[in-house]
Amino acid sequence: METLQEKLNRLVNESVKELKEIGLGDNLNTNMTFEINYRAKQRLGQCCNKCDINISSWLLEVGSDKDIKNTIIHEILHTFKDTIGHKAKWQYYARYVNNRTEYNITRTTSINNIYARANIQRPTKHIHYKWEITCTKCGAVWKKQKMTTKVLNGFTEGNRIHRKCGGTDFRIVDLDNCEVIW
Ligand SMILES: [Zn+2]
Ligand SMILES: [Zn+2]
Repeated sequence: METLQEKLNRLVNESVKELKEIGLGDNLNTNMTFEINYRAKQRLGQCCNKCDINISSWLLEVGSDKDIKNTIIHEILHTFKDTIGHKAKWQYYARYVNNRTEYNITRTTSINNIYARANIQRPTKHIHYKWEITCTKCGAVWKKQKMTTKVLNGFTEGNRIHRKCGGTDFRIVDLDNCEVIW
């Protein structure tokens, strides 16, 4: 029985080989890394810094090989130098792959459909946190599902105070995009 890590490695190798076969070998970033993300329940995969890809553990457990490789290839396209987000060039490569393979690379994929195809009940108890805030004075960390621009600006402009310690300097991470924004 293959471990999740072995499964990920196998499917990454297959995906890379298939991209080379359709002529995209030169676009591949040789520094790409792949990891399993055990925390993300609302996401299939993610590409950080146009290089570091993580694939959600639930997808590796529930999805078909094709579902998983769709996601791996989706993320690999984000590592191509000339792509920005899901803008025109990314869409061009997605169409390029779709026209030459049996994959269907799309901007968004329904998580519910993947569970439905696997005939597995999707877990319902989950809260999606977008923001992680750290008080740099005392180190306290807390998470928020949403923040208005006004609240966000309050943190970055020093207008917020951590009542427990009096700290006014915060580090803010956008968990959706694994980006330190402040
Ligand atoms: Zn994407
Ligand atoms: Zn504090």
